[in-house]
Amino acid sequence: MDLIIGSHVSFTKDKQLLGCVEETLSYGANTFMFYTGAPQNTNRMEIDDNKTKEAIKLMEENNIDYKNVVVHAPYIINLANNSDDEKWNFAINFLKQEISRCEKLGVDKLVLHPGSHVGLGSEVGIQNIIDALNIVLNRKTNVKILIETMAGKGSECGRNLDEVRKIIDGVDNKECIGICLDTCHLNDSGYDVNNFDKILDEIDNKVGLDKIYCIHINDSKNVCGAGKDRHENIGLGTIGFDSLINIIYNERLSNIPKILETPYVSIDDNSKDKIYPPYKFEIEMIRNKINNSNLISDIRNYYKDIIK
Ligand code: FE
Ligand code: FE
Ligand code: ZN
Repeated sequence: MDLIIGSHVSFTKDKQLLGCVEETLSYGANTFMFYTGAPQNTNRMEIDDNKTKEAIKLMEENNIDYKNVVVHAPYIINLANNSDDEKWNFAINFLKQEISRCEKLGVDKLVLHPGSHVGLGSEVGIQNIIDALNIVLNRKTNVKILIETMAGKGSECGRNLDEVRKIIDGVDNKECIGICLDTCHLNDSGYDVNNFDKILDEIDNKVGLDKIYCIHINDSKNVCGAGKDRHENIGLGTIGFDSLINIIYNERLSNIPKILETPYVSIDDNSKDKIYPPYKFEIEMIRNKINNSNLISDIRNYYKDIIK
């Protein structure tokens, strides 16, 4: 089985899914993840079926398998806190529409941050998430909602595998629920990602390995258990290149899409607003299994030439 590797790409107004595929190909990737609009807001455009058709054709020509493509729900959607009824219902309705958009785009994996309880306590927060998901998933769909394992920042729910298990257990529509691992989040929430097989054993016991549909591959800026959530470029963080390679090439995860969400790189140390994607270079490192200690300067030189 070939490595299934890609990154977060952007879904823009004019190019939509076609733009996602073109960006993916420019990185030498064979899958991708996108938000159907800005990650931090809920404004969404109409899906253009012509663009989708063109995108599918381009995917077929380049052996990108549609079943490995992932959508990420915006992270402001919070199912865990229902103290404002209107907001909670808005989140539920948005998620219902997001599933419809996935169906229209032909994508069947939808990653979701479970949410933050914001003072209600994790037990109440988790129950709110379950209640919301049971409303959202109260119909037949091919789309699976993938609960992402969180870093445990602030009052985030889903900070460990027990909390994730509780959510999965509470959802009636078992066919439509799965999980998405994030290496940075696992590290930051206190799991030793150097021993990933131990984590996979625990997942196997608690929810089943067959519930994993996506893995976010990120290095971390913080030490194990820091309870933060700051992604770092591959090989430059506390997890390190070798551990990430071991996770990416772990045989128990061979058919699961690996998605990079590592930070964009500034063109030099002074201009923090001019930033460029690292993915072409990180994917190359991962495919070759060779750490690139010049990663940042290679990215800078490449984009300096391109923007000239
Ligand atoms: Fe996420
Ligand atoms: Fe993630
Ligand atoms: Zn994160």
